[in-house]
Amino acid sequence: MEEQPFSDISFENYLNEEKLMGSRCSRCDALYLPPRPICTACRGSQMSWEEVSGKGKLAAFTCISIAPPSMIAEGYNRQNPYISGVVALQEGVRVDARIEGIDPRKPEEIRIGMPLKVKFLHRGDHRTTLAFDPA
Ligand SMILES: [Zn+2]
Repeated sequence: MEEQPFSDISFENYLNEEKLMGSRCSRCDALYLPPRPICTACRGSQMSWEEVSGKGKLAAFTCISIAPPSMIAEGYNRQNPYISGVVALQEGVRVDARIEGIDPRKPEEIRIGMPLKVKFLHRGDHRTTLAFDPA
């Protein structure tokens, strides 16, 4: 596991295995998710993999009704919008993810700070989308 490069590809491979993995700087303890090979805080390159809890709170969100082609292919459009959000994880890092389990047509019901838990959306093309559900 340690031999995996700290790249987006490794991050996605771990998502396929339902693991939310970041990189932890052994010099200054900064955590990166998705992982980075070089610490932006201290420029250290001694990173190690760390699995995070997958628990967090909603920090920001957008309801998207004008979807990019990949999402249109999944059936999202103006009548069927989806929510893209930023989740502040318990470990102190923020990650971009899909927010599920909430009606995107009722944004007034979505609360900043609401507790969320991780969910892995497996698609047919061997890719996994990081998502969160209300906890
Ligand atoms: Zn560092």
